[in-house]
Amino acid sequence: METLNNEVTAQQKITETVGKFIGLIGKRLPDDVGKRLVELEKEEVAPLSKVVYQSMMDNQDKAMKLNRPSCQDTGVIQFFIKCGANFPFIGDLEEALTESVLEATKNAPLRHNSVETFDEYNTGKNIGKGTPSIFWDIVPNSDKLELDVYMAGGGCTLPGKSMVLMPSAGYEGITKFVLDVMTEYGINACPPLLVGVGVATSVETAAILSKKALMRPIGSHNPNERAASMEKLLEDGINSIGLGPQGLSGKKSVMGVHIENSARHPSTIGVAVNTGCWSHRRGHIIFDKNLNYEITSHTGVTL
Ligand code: SF4
Repeated sequence: METLNNEVTAQQKITETVGKFIGLIGKRLPDDVGKRLVELEKEEVAPLSKVVYQSMMDNQDKAMKLNRPSCQDTGVIQFFIKCGANFPFIGDLEEALTESVLEATKNAPLRHNSVETFDEYNTGKNIGKGTPSIFWDIVPNSDKLELDVYMAGGGCTLPGKSMVLMPSAGYEGITKFVLDVMTEYGINACPPLLVGVGVATSVETAAILSKKALMRPIGSHNPNERAASMEKLLEDGINSIGLGPQGLSGKKSVMGVHIENSARHPSTIGVAVNTGCWSHRRGHIIFDKNLNYEITSHTGVTL
């Protein structure tokens, strides 16, 4: 364990900073989500839709004023790491992040959402076998650490689905798959939704891409023109279902649709969907090699 100065180890510093960041994420939506909700509220004309959006804004104000999580379901914490191969504290990271969840569970506080499968007991700590979930990407020639922190709530996780299509299903097959999931389960996830779609070879490669798609800022597009055009078509298609805020009907069902893709085996189309709810609580933080941090998802925050 490396020491930053005489008193604080690097592991303690990461634990403390990320623990506070998780607490903030539970109370304050990232800037892009907050902005999109305001835009969507303006587009609705039905009084009920407007009231629902206003109650969401009110909920967020009260969460900050009362210093409480904005939704009772603070989810399972998931970390998506892009760690520079030269980041000096790489070996401390898993333990530091796990401890940060424990700190946030006590201090934020977070609901206890880690149930040991097969033994069927709640650990009461948000820590268990494989939780928090930590997904690693190692970045060559970098000494930085980039973290996406996500609260995976039950309702917004529920519509998640992945399957492998025959290649003849084509892009029409992908569209049918996504729209079937949205019409069957979209309403469970507290719309308006952020919809992540992964297109790859197999269930697991598509699934991880569909979740990473939810980490992208709202308003961003897939760099491939055709994929970006499909994002727009899917967005229009899901909006036409008319879920509206909290599923109580309205003009818009989604905050956006993001597609992430990889090359694929010629004989398969792996496709997956993941959803984020209106309370899409994620945060993005970057540490340098001295553990100075920059938060890009929430402006004006010092932890
Ligand atoms: S779907 Fe989102 S807003 Fe709805 S209960 Fe779950 S975490 Fe909360």
